[in-house]
Amino acid sequence: MNATGAALPRGGWIIVAGGSGFIGSHLCDRLLADGHRVVIVDDLSTGRDSNVAHLAGRDDVHVLTADVCDPSVVDTITDMVDDQITAVMHLASPASPPAYLARPLATLAVGSTGTANLLQLAAPHRARFLLASTSEVYGDPLVHPQPEGYWGNVNPVGERSVYDEAKRFAEALTAAHHRIGAVDTRIVRIFNTYGPRMQPDDGRVVTNLVHQARAGEPMTVYGDGSQTRSFCYVDDLVGGIVALLDSAVTGPVNIGNPHEFTIAELVEVVREVTGSSSPVEYRPLPSDDPRQRQPDITRARTELGWEPHVALREGLARMIAAIGS
Ligand code: UDP
Repeated sequence: MNATGAALPRGGWIIVAGGSGFIGSHLCDRLLADGHRVVIVDDLSTGRDSNVAHLAGRDDVHVLTADVCDPSVVDTITDMVDDQITAVMHLASPASPPAYLARPLATLAVGSTGTANLLQLAAPHRARFLLASTSEVYGDPLVHPQPEGYWGNVNPVGERSVYDEAKRFAEALTAAHHRIGAVDTRIVRIFNTYGPRMQPDDGRVVTNLVHQARAGEPMTVYGDGSQTRSFCYVDDLVGGIVALLDSAVTGPVNIGNPHEFTIAELVEVVREVTGSSSPVEYRPLPSDDPRQRQPDITRARTELGWEPHVALREGLARMIAAIGS
């Protein structure tokens, strides 16, 4: 089957695995606003039902607490919906380094078995399948910025491999289903993302620094702070994911904000936005921590007409406003 090209018809059911997570819940809001119906599937291992509590009671929303690695999930979801499933979107996975390092086997399972189950769900419905992959497929990149054609530099037996290799395998499985004509697929590679609904204790650098700065606690910098990341506001990211879903582009497509910061620069921006004078506390750099990361978004710009609009200071201000006092 070739990519169909058309925007998805509105009114059908979209299955969002990981729909109670940080990105998944924002995606559900956007899909509903676009006129789709949504089945939120999440095992709540790192997702939170509070992220989608505002959607409770709607007749265009179903919520299923389940692990997509469980083979019965395919039949359970199929039985829940009375109408066409137009898309299956796979965002289910622990995603912050402390979360996936604490769940190594579950992370490998959801990237492999979970992906296989969701592809199996999509196939008979001729539903479009979108895999949420990651900039981590590039590992500690030797090419900078990273275009989609770069194959990456991943330590296959390192600590982070449970996430990196699970996502690389998920991409391979998705691409194979597309190649044999079994499922119409999309792959998005998501770069560092931030915004409202991130768990304060998820351990990522933006959440740690923002909460530490607001509490007047030392801001933790791992290593010397010279490593780089490029931070995308969640609304921009969701716009890119939906643009890919509604396109004929199979990908993979990088979606992220190409504005690159060192972690030391990020500390300064967070101090500025929060008005904090918290000191920095240096901690050891985790193993295999990528030295640099910046998306090349040429493909997203040219093939999807997408680019991010929210600058880091503005996005942090919005995130902090949502946290409240
Ligand atoms: N980091 C940091 N302080 C923290 C948390 C993370 O300096 O409190 C560093 C981390 O070592 C990495 C970068 O910030 O170099 C981004 O880490 P994060 O966990 O947000 O995501 P990653 O891009 O590594 O998946």
